[in-house]
Amino acid sequence: MTCIVQKFGGTSVADVEHIKNVARRVKEEVDRGNQVAVIVSAMTGVTNELVKYCREMSHFHDAREYDVVVSTGEQVTIGLLTMALHDIEISARSWTGWQIPIMTDGAHSKARIENINIKKLKKCMADGQVAVIAGFQGLAPNNRIATLGRGGSDTSAVSLAAALKADRCDIYTDVDGVYTTDPSIVPTARKLDKITYEEMLEMASLGAKVLQTRSVEMAMKHNVRLQVRSSFSNESGTFVCSEEEIMEKEVISGIAYSRDEAKLTLVGVKDSPGVSATIFGLLADENINVDMIVQDVSENGEITNMTFTVTKADFGRTINILKDNHDKIGYINLITDENVVKVSVVGVGMRSHCGVALTMFQALAEKGINIQVISTSEIKISVLISEEYTELALRALHTAYNMDDKKT
Ligand code: ASP
Ligand code: MG
Repeated sequence: MTCIVQKFGGTSVADVEHIKNVARRVKEEVDRGNQVAVIVSAMTGVTNELVKYCREMSHFHDAREYDVVVSTGEQVTIGLLTMALHDIEISARSWTGWQIPIMTDGAHSKARIENINIKKLKKCMADGQVAVIAGFQGLAPNNRIATLGRGGSDTSAVSLAAALKADRCDIYTDVDGVYTTDPSIVPTARKLDKITYEEMLEMASLGAKVLQTRSVEMAMKHNVRLQVRSSFSNESGTFVCSEEEIMEKEVISGIAYSRDEAKLTLVGVKDSPGVSATIFGLLADENINVDMIVQDVSENGEITNMTFTVTKADFGRTINILKDNHDKIGYINLITDENVVKVSVVGVGMRSHCGVALTMFQALAEKGINIQVISTSEIKISVLISEEYTELALRALHTAYNMDDKKT
């Protein structure tokens, strides 16, 4: 028997009418003779509201109690969806994370799933009952409720699909799939039929917000066939799968961007062993993640400049750390810039094609866009540019890589 995991995000369960629509989508799978497990998020805006209550209540709240509060949104949705299923004569029951249980580690507010006990679930599903499961939550050591970090219900769904060895995990959302780039900026963006796990992982971590990054890691590790699709249409969405499944590969699959970058340059640091270790050691001690890094060639072999980026949230703290440690690091000047954006082209085809970077640099040069920092991996090239050029750069690159949808 085919086992399907369906996940519905906040916008798909926004109100009672939407939840009834979800019930119909579940019924379609049941009517096809499938065993179905459904994971849901909280209704749109609910989790934000709960987070706000916690902040208002106490600035230094206990993360375990934060989890007790913010996990409640999903409990409302599972109850309501189960009622909607009963109304259309589908056998179903709701499950909270701790009833299954979905066991996590003790990192409250950003816990990781360690193990899912599927025994009880499987039995109910085999008896023809739809399992309606609260996403985003689990049970931490010491019998405490845990949550998985914002957007975590994607990860709940993929983990469950892996545990159940499901044939497919469908992520229903308010877009009809993964696009070559942000369609609100580039009207000629195309929906992709397929994308590899690796590419999706890059796209997700580079700011394409369709899936939580961790859920893609999990899908790749366990080979879960993922589909991102719309809960409002019957068209198939985008399959996230292994490279072997994709016959005709484009060189570039997508272009992502992230405005969540801020640039810092330490001017006149000593060009000697240990300097980078000192700078980045200080930041690592404060849990600050550094993204792009470049060090200039030193002209006289004595001093050089070091440029790097951090997230906008860490920007202020990073400046303070660098200033507080001026003497320890030893530099002449600190220059900062928050008005930057990171634009990245992603594609596994890069491994076997040359000239991919050149196309990017030429397209940007033609528009007079200056590249400030470059970084690369095996399947992506990222550049840091001035934020005001975001739209122009995305459109120019989309055209340069022949990705434009000819129909629009
Ligand atoms: N409701 C949670 C959130 O808003 C989890 C999710 O939607 O995936 O972050
Ligand atoms: Mg989400």
